[in-house]
Amino acid sequence: HDAQGFQGNLTAAHLLDGLLSPEFSHRSCRSRYEFAGYHKKSPHKPSPYLIAKLRKHEALQKRCGPGTASYKKALRRLESGEGVNTADTSSNNKDECRYLVYISFRGLGNRMLSMASAFLYAVLTDRVLLVDNDKAVIGDLFCEPFPGTTWLLPRPGLLSTSPLRRLRHFDQDSKESLGNMLQSGATVASVDGNVTWSAPAAGRTPPFLYVHLGGGYGHHDKLFFCGAHQRLLHSVPWLLFKSDVYTIPGMFLIPTFQHELDAMFPEKDAVFHHLGRYLFHPSNPVWSDITSYHRANLAGHHVVGVQIRVFQDKVQPPQQVLDQVLSCVRDEKLLQLMLPSSTSSNTSTSILVTSLSPWYSERIRAELAGSSTEVHQPSHEGEQRWHDAAHDAHALTDIYLLSTCDVLLTSGYSTFGYVAQGLAGLRPWVLPREPFWAQEGSTEGRGPCRRELSVEPCSHSPSFYDCKAGGRDLDLDSVKYIGRCVDVNWGIKLV
Ligand code: GDP
Repeated sequence: HDAQGFQGNLTAAHLLDGLLSPEFSHRSCRSRYEFAGYHKKSPHKPSPYLIAKLRKHEALQKRCGPGTASYKKALRRLESGEGVNTADTSSNNKDECRYLVYISFRGLGNRMLSMASAFLYAVLTDRVLLVDNDKAVIGDLFCEPFPGTTWLLPRPGLLSTSPLRRLRHFDQDSKESLGNMLQSGATVASVDGNVTWSAPAAGRTPPFLYVHLGGGYGHHDKLFFCGAHQRLLHSVPWLLFKSDVYTIPGMFLIPTFQHELDAMFPEKDAVFHHLGRYLFHPSNPVWSDITSYHRANLAGHHVVGVQIRVFQDKVQPPQQVLDQVLSCVRDEKLLQLMLPSSTSSNTSTSILVTSLSPWYSERIRAELAGSSTEVHQPSHEGEQRWHDAAHDAHALTDIYLLSTCDVLLTSGYSTFGYVAQGLAGLRPWVLPREPFWAQEGSTEGRGPCRRELSVEPCSHSPSFYDCKAGGRDLDLDSVKYIGRCVDVNWGIKLV
């Protein structure tokens, strides 16, 4: 695939078959128009219904986004702590804008998967998605996804009493969380299975609610994935949504959303593939790093991307991981790199290694000494860091470079790898890996690499609660588009 800049003539390929809106200037976000020049053409076309939903959602973001009269009104309401009278069905009330404020935490892969989930939920529930731009991280990494407005939540003034001022304080224990509200008697369940507000005043919806969907969340937080609780949330004007996990498979199991999701995604294994390509456009400075590295090292090569993520060196020694990588590449003939017969092809081959450590790529290079295969590693950050813009930019560069590869070998459990495979549209080979809580000496995580079942990310902490048959677990094996993950045995994924 030739690495080309955008020359000014928009084609369907530049707009990813209609996924992207043409309503942006090229200069404001080069990656939006140049993506197609660095990536293989996707075999998955976005459905016309998905495209229509996205254009409709863009209009909502513009109509209700920061700076608009509707936004100011909703902010005033939130600040005053005034709830909504659920019984008021006047058209005036119905036209009001409702918001989803996304609060991120953890590494970039986790953040991208949970942000895509928050976005799809916002689309399904007609809410405006606003992201908490704490430490300017999201604003620095990504372009604005919606034309003519911003998705960055403006910071409330110093004297504001709005909950938006204390976003970072919300957590699983917050009394305003859905889980805690359900436990504290703020709601009542009726015999017909519906759930309504009983407090602070009967029939009055609270002005905002905090939704906690993080790994390790509790039973009551997980009731988010029940239809009755979705109806309860519908009229709440502001949802503060904190998540680090991929929750889209869970949304497919909520009956109220199934019809829409079926129409939007006839191909179930391409959900993140489309949403990721729609939402995450690297900002111009990050895109410059990606494209200059690509042009200098990878352009015109057949590239195998190898993503090496090790949680604890002691549990799984580097040598063991290296051996797994080399045997996977060899056994699965990913590069045909050790086979002299591969010289029949004229294309040069390269391995792109991403890892926090430089050790693996040095070893792989030593292993391949004498062959024509080049080994590249864009950065080695040493260790994971938080709230560090340059570190996050390197992470996004690595994820994007992996997404331009022809073949991927990723590390099990890693959301970093999931994002790369999703953007690429590739089913990777996956290295089995020890879970991060494994004890030293554990034999988990040994064994040969396996091919992923689908391009979709694995959902690590799904809700197995059967809302209808309360108390019983869902029988997921009977849902045809839900499969098990090859790397996380309790995880589920769309296939
Ligand atoms: P996960 O922990 O593997 O699921 O992935 P996350 O992306 O959520 O968190 C890992 C974080 O560690 C990344 O966001 C980076 O900050 C850092 N990191 C891990 N592996 C790499 C890598 O290969 N390259 C770079 N640049 N950073 C990495």
